[in-house]
Amino acid sequence: MSAPLDDLMMDYPLTLTQFFERSRRLFGKKTLATRRPGQPLFRYTYADFAERTRRLAGVLRDLGVRKGDRVATLAWNSHRHLELYWAIPLSGAVLHTLNFRLSAQDLTYIINHAGDSVVFVDSSVWPVLAAIRDRCPSVRTIVVMHDGPPSVGGQAGAEVAAPADLPEYEALLEAAAPVREWPTLGERDAAGMCYTSGTTGHPKGVVYTHRALYIHCLAQAMTDSFGLSETDVILHIVPMFHANAWCVPFTGTMLGATQIFGGPNPQPRDICGLAQAEKVTFVGAVPTVWIAVKELVDEEGYDISSIRCIPIGGSAAPRSLLEHFDKQVGASMMHAWGMTEMSPLGTLSRLKSYMRGWPEDQQYAVRAKQGYVSVGVDLRIVDDAGHEVVWDGASMGEIQVRGPWIIRSYYDNPESADRFTADGWFRTGDVATVDPEGYVQITDRTKDLIKSGGEWISSIDVETMIMGHPKVLEAAVIAVPHPRWVERPLACVVPRPGVTLEPREIVDYLRPRLAKWALPDEVVLLDAVPKTSVGKFDKKVLRERFRDRASKES
Ligand code: ADP
Repeated sequence: MSAPLDDLMMDYPLTLTQFFERSRRLFGKKTLATRRPGQPLFRYTYADFAERTRRLAGVLRDLGVRKGDRVATLAWNSHRHLELYWAIPLSGAVLHTLNFRLSAQDLTYIINHAGDSVVFVDSSVWPVLAAIRDRCPSVRTIVVMHDGPPSVGGQAGAEVAAPADLPEYEALLEAAAPVREWPTLGERDAAGMCYTSGTTGHPKGVVYTHRALYIHCLAQAMTDSFGLSETDVILHIVPMFHANAWCVPFTGTMLGATQIFGGPNPQPRDICGLAQAEKVTFVGAVPTVWIAVKELVDEEGYDISSIRCIPIGGSAAPRSLLEHFDKQVGASMMHAWGMTEMSPLGTLSRLKSYMRGWPEDQQYAVRAKQGYVSVGVDLRIVDDAGHEVVWDGASMGEIQVRGPWIIRSYYDNPESADRFTADGWFRTGDVATVDPEGYVQITDRTKDLIKSGGEWISSIDVETMIMGHPKVLEAAVIAVPHPRWVERPLACVVPRPGVTLEPREIVDYLRPRLAKWALPDEVVLLDAVPKTSVGKFDKKVLRERFRDRASKES
C-alpha cells in the first residue's frame, strides 16, 4: 500500500484572527484616522488600534459577551467602529452592523430577530435607539460612543442626548484589562451579520463566517480585483453598516493600508476635502454620491486626482459619469456589482490587456458594464424556463451565483428557501446579460424591469442614458400602468442646478438612441430623486408617488 497522499497540508482555520495579529506585528506605525466635524482629523497608529481592540475585547468579556452572542453597532464610520469590527468577531461573538436609517419598525424587527444582546451606539445616533429600546427585550447593555451631539433620528437638544448613566466606550476601555490570547475559533464560526434592507417583506439576515470574510479579503485585494495594497490611502464613505462597507475595512486592515473614516454624516464637500488633503488613493461609494461630488469638483475645483481607483456600485453607474471622472477629475472609476448576500463582491469591470488598444468608445462600453466575475465566484444566467442562457450579450435571465463567500441560507428564515436552487446556487433576483468576453450587464432588478407589450425595457439602460444628457443631474425610470401595453416607462429627471430643462429635450435626446417602444411616454421633472437608506434611487417611493399616473392610450 502506498503512503497517504491526500490531505497532507495543515487544516489551518481561516479566521480573521490571523489577519489582525499579522497587521499588529507588521504595521504598528501605519495610520488610521477619523473625520471629526469642525476639528482636525483624529489620528492614531495601528499599534494604538491593536492595543485598544484588545482592551475592547476585555470590555466584551467583562460585559459577559460569550461565543455566538450578537453584538450590534449603530454607528457612523470611525476608528471605534473599526475596533468593534475586529474585537467582536475575534472574541467569538458576532458583529451585527445596524443601519440607523431604517424605519423604527424595521430596526426593531432586526434587533429582535437577531437577538442582539449588546448595542454600541454613537451619541449622534442615540435618538434612533432611544425611540425603540423599550421594544428590544434582548438588549441588556447599551454602550455609548461620544462622537458629537445627536444628529440622526431626532431634534438636536438635551432631551435626546444619551443618558449619562449608560456605560461610555472610552471609560470602559480605560478600565478594561486587554485580552492577550484570542480564543481559538473555527473558520465556519459566525463572524458578522447584516440584514438586507428588505424591499419586500421583512429584512433578512445574512451571517458571514470567518472563512467567507477571510477568502473574500484575499480575493478583493488581488491586483485584478480592487488591487488594494499597504501603500493605499483608503477613505471609507460606504457606510460600515452597508455590507461591511463592502468589506474594505477588513481588507484594508489585513494589508496595513492607511485608512480614513468618514465620521458623522460626511457630505460631498468632506469627501473632496479629505481626498485632496490626505492624498486618498481609494474610495468607494454608490453612484448618487459621485454625481454630487462631480458637481462640486466642477464648481469649486478640488484636486482629487490622487485617487487611483473609485469602485462604484450598489446601483448602475452611467457611462457619462465614468468618462467625466477620467477626463475632468483624473480619478478612475471601476464599476462593480455585488450584494449583501455576497459579502458583497460579485463582478468587477476591468479592461482586459488587449482591450486597452480598442477605440475609446468601445472601451467605455465595456467599462460601463458591471464586469466579469470575480475569482472565487461561479456565475450563471438562467432564463424563465430554467435554462442557462448563452453568453451572447443579448440573452437575458436571472443571475445565479455560488462560491465560498455567497450566502447558503438566510438566518432563521425558512420562508426564503426559494432564493436557493436545488443544485446549490443563490438566486440574486438581478436580471442580466453576459457578453462573449464574459462581461455581465445588469438589466434590472426583477421588480424594476418594465414590461411593455411583449418587450422588456431595462430601466437602468434608459436612466443611464438620460444621465448622459449634459443638463441632467439624476434620472430614475419606473413602470407605470398602461391600458394597452400593460406597462410603460416614466422618466423622473432632476435637472442640474441653475439650468432650464424641458421634458421634450430629454425625449429628443433619447429618440436616436433608443428603440421607439422603449422611449418614455412621459418625463417628469423633480427637485430630487428619493434615495434609499444606502443612497440608491428609491424606485419603490417613486412607483408609489406615480401609481395613478397611468400612461395615455397610444
Ligand atoms: P440593498 O438591497 O439595500 O440595495 P444591497 O447593496 O445588498 O442592498 O443591494 C444589492 C443590489 O444592488 C444588487 O442585487 C443589484 O440589484 C444592485 N447593484 C449592486 N451593484 C450594482 C451595479 N454595479 N449595477 C447595478 N446594480 C447594482
